Amino acid sequence: MSGDRWYRCIRCGHVGSEVGHDEGQEEARVCVCCGSFEIESCPAPRFMAAAEIEARRWKMRAELLSALIKRAGACGALPDGYVTQASRVMAGTA
Ligand SMILES: [Zn+2]
Repeated sequence: MSGDRWYRCIRCGHVGSEVGHDEGQEEARVCVCCGSFEIESCPAPRFMAAAEIEARRWKMRAELLSALIKRAGACGALPDGYVTQASRVMAGTA
């Protein structure tokens, strides 16, 4: 069995390289989880997972930074203009 051909199951969302085979139809690739024929090829999940982890880290940093700026604004350490500008940057409207 080839480990290079990854697929994603449209029905149950399973991602894997190991496919099942329908009884009597050796050619047909089916999802090992739910047996669905509705599977589509996709890149190896480690690339997707790495990008997802990185995106989550950026989101976490943005949230921490946002909270920090709000706190600084609330205690008067940062003038309102900067707080407003920072809010726009984080909202993507700057
Ligand atoms: Zn499935």
